[in-house]
Amino acid sequence: MNRVFNFAPGPSMLATEVIEKVQKDLLCYGSTGMSVMEMSHRSKMYLEIFDKAVADFKDVMGVPEGYKVMFLQGGATAMFAAVALNLMQGGKADYIDSGNFAHNALLEAQKYGEVNVAGSSRADNYAYIPAYTLSPDARYVHITTNNTIYGTRYDRLPETGDVPLVADMSSNILSEVYDVSKFGVIYAGAQKNVGPAGVVILVVREDLLGHELPITPKVMSFKKMADADSMLNTPNCFGIYVAGLTFEWIKAQGGVAAIEKVNIEKAKLLYDCLDESKLFHGTAAPQYRSRMNVTFVTGDADKDAAFVKAAAAKGLVNLKGHRTVGGMRASIYNAMPMEGVKALVAFMQDFEAHDR
Ligand SMILES: *Cc1c(COP(=O)(O)O)cnc(C)c1O
Repeated sequence: MNRVFNFAPGPSMLATEVIEKVQKDLLCYGSTGMSVMEMSHRSKMYLEIFDKAVADFKDVMGVPEGYKVMFLQGGATAMFAAVALNLMQGGKADYIDSGNFAHNALLEAQKYGEVNVAGSSRADNYAYIPAYTLSPDARYVHITTNNTIYGTRYDRLPETGDVPLVADMSSNILSEVYDVSKFGVIYAGAQKNVGPAGVVILVVREDLLGHELPITPKVMSFKKMADADSMLNTPNCFGIYVAGLTFEWIKAQGGVAAIEKVNIEKAKLLYDCLDESKLFHGTAAPQYRSRMNVTFVTGDADKDAAFVKAAAAKGLVNLKGHRTVGGMRASIYNAMPMEGVKALVAFMQDFEAHDR
């Protein structure tokens, strides 16, 4: 059985080299005589794996002094609640409603304080990043840097002055260079660009620790988790190990800047194909096109379904779009090689040529 080009939105492709490394060390890691799955999270060997994962993440992400990095559980969805519990302090927060996950984040935050929807493109099926008006007295501003379902991306970050910027980077973390010092909090579920599902990366500026509401569950307290080095309880040991292998892989590719260049090329290839096509049309406003999730339609649901099916038969799998957008979505995260995108473009051109 050959590996396919998997265009799934998440969980999604991991680098083959990462999976091969996992396979090689699966039964016996180093000289321990046991699998990473079987190690105590307090053991010396596991702490080495953990500390290296944190250090390599800081390195590839460019995390400056003054920030804590944590690997927690509950996914980005748990962070929707945790952000509000830790930062709202009974006040108000600005949320930019740019997609389904952005919307879910603000619905969750509403349970713990006042949410100001600073801008929304919901009425236009989130085809673009909305204009927004920020409130000067907000405790923080929440954005979703890449909108996984609708295929849009912030082409520039909001200027928030002294108000902390909080970003859900689940679907584009480590795919492009970000200046971490512009953010108060960054979080990302691992299952798109980093590793297996079940790990969420959390980066918090230190002055934002220790302001949580008293009702905050301790596993959601940024301060308590930071003080315990993510190990207030048993972390997702194996998932963190695989994420660490991905950070090493990113370094071996030349770091995030080098990967960003390839990602720009991959996305351009696909968008150029869409722009030249008479059959396929991109659904995201060109200015805000995502480099990670490319959404497109033919305008005919039966034809879309036929395309998805025929592509799968050629080893180009999971191209069906999210039900709210329909059509197709090609998720081309870091681990999707250029050949995968080229194969998809060639298949689209061939499908169009045979379209009557
Ligand atoms: C996938 C995704 C989520 C949801 O992540 P979970 O880990 O399933 O909670 C949230 N935000 C964005 C931008 C996503 O792409």
